[in-house]
Amino acid sequence: MEKEYDLLIVGAGPVGCVVAEQVAKQKGWRSLIIDKRDHIAGNCYDRTHESGVLIHQYGPHYFRSNKKELIDYLGQYTEWIPGNYEVKSSARGELFPFPINLLTLGQFFNREFTAEEAEEHLNKIRIPNDNPQNSEEFVLSRVGKELYESFYLNYTIKQWEMHPTELNKSVCGRIPIRFNKDIRYVDHEYQLTPKEGFTEMFGKMIDNDLIDVKLETSFEDIKNLVKPKIATLYSGPIDAYFDFQYGKLPWRSLDISFKEFDEEYKQPCVQINYPNDHDYTRSVEIKHVTQQKTNNTVISYEVPTWKGDPYYPVPADDNAALFKKYWKLAEEENKENSVYFSGRLARYTYINTDEAIEMALETARQIIEDAEK
Ligand SMILES: Cc1cc2nc3c(=O)[nH]c(=O)nc-3n(C[C@H](O)[C@H](O)[C@H](O)COP(=O)(O)OP(=O)(O)OC[C@H]3O[C@@H](n4cnc5c(N)ncnc54)[C@H](O)[C@@H]3O)c2cc1C
Repeated sequence: MEKEYDLLIVGAGPVGCVVAEQVAKQKGWRSLIIDKRDHIAGNCYDRTHESGVLIHQYGPHYFRSNKKELIDYLGQYTEWIPGNYEVKSSARGELFPFPINLLTLGQFFNREFTAEEAEEHLNKIRIPNDNPQNSEEFVLSRVGKELYESFYLNYTIKQWEMHPTELNKSVCGRIPIRFNKDIRYVDHEYQLTPKEGFTEMFGKMIDNDLIDVKLETSFEDIKNLVKPKIATLYSGPIDAYFDFQYGKLPWRSLDISFKEFDEEYKQPCVQINYPNDHDYTRSVEIKHVTQQKTNNTVISYEVPTWKGDPYYPVPADDNAALFKKYWKLAEEENKENSVYFSGRLARYTYINTDEAIEMALETARQIIEDAEK
C-alpha cells in the first residue's frame, strides 16, 4: 500500500461508512475502508435485480427512527420517501394485519372491538403470569393460547429452530400489541426510505477524496500490510478477530431467494408472514416500499438456516457470556493497539440501521477524543 492512512476501517456497512465520513469531515483524516464483499452498504445493500426491479439483497430494510437529528444527518445524502411498512400474517387461510391490533382481533374473533372491549376480552383469555421466564410464557400472558398458536408459536420455531420456551422473553416481547387501528409494522415517529436506495445513500456519504474503498478484501488479507496512523475501526465479527480462541459465537442466517412475477404487484402489502405454512417465514415485495414504477415485480422468500452470513445473534445466556469474554479482549486491544469494535457483528447484537448509525457516530466521537488526549 503506497498511501498512508489515518484510519483503517474494516467493513463498508453503515458503521464503517459513517465513521469514515465523520473523521474526514471533522478532522480531515484519511481512511481506507475495506470489505470482503464486492459492494458497500453492508446488509443494507440494495441493487437492481436482473428483472429491473430494485431489491434488498440481504432481507428487507425498513428504516425508522425516533430522532429527527438522525433523519437530518442522513438527509444530507438522500431524499426520503414515506416508509409504507405494512405486514400481514397468514393464519387459518386468511391474512391478518400484524402486529396484533384492534382490526386483527376483530377479524380473528369475528366481531368489532373498542380498545376497552379488546382489553376486557384479552383479560379473559390471557394466561396470567407476573413473571414470565421465556417467550412462550410472555406471549401467553398477553394474548392467550389461540392467538399465540396462530401467530407466534410456529413462526418462532421456524425462525430459531428453538421452542419459544427456550427463548428469552424479549424475543417475542419486542412485537407490540396495539389497542388501536394502527396497521403500521413499527411504532417509530419517522418511517422513511431513501428515495434512490441505501447503497446510493451510503455511496454519497463516502464520496470524499479522503476516503478510499477497497472491496473483495478481507481484514485477514490486509492486516499486516496497512498500519493506520491513528486507529482501526473493526465492524466484522468479534470472534473472528480473535481467531475464535474461545469458540464460535452462533448466528442465525437466512437463505433468501428472489422470484420475478409478470404483474405490477403480487401481494397486498410489503410483507406477509407465514407462521404455519411453507418453509419460508415471510415473503417480501419491497416494491411497496421503494415505490418503483414497473410492470413486473420481485418477491423474496426467506428460509432461516444455520449456514451462511451472520444475520441474527442467538439470544441465549451462554452466548451473552461468551461475548463478554471476547469483549474483555476487545477492551485490551483498544488500549494497546487503538482498535475500536463497533457495529452489529463486533458487538454481537441485533441493532437496526438507525441504531447502528448512532453507534457509529458515538464511536467516531470516541476515536477523535482519544486521539486528542
Ligand atoms: C435480515 C435482516 C433484516 C434487517 N432489517 C432491518 C430493518 O428492517 N430495518 C433496519 O433499520 N435494520 C434492519 N437490519 C439491520 C441492519 O442491517 C444493520 O443494523 C446494519 O446493517 C448494521 O450495520 P453494520 O455496519 O454494523 O454491519 P453490516 O451492515 O453487517 O456491515 C458489516 C460489513 O463488514 C464486512 N466484513 C465483516 N467481516 C469482515 C472482514 N473480516 N473483512 C472485511 N470486511 C468484513 C461485511 O462484509 C459487511 O459488509 C436488518 C438486518 C438483517 C440481517
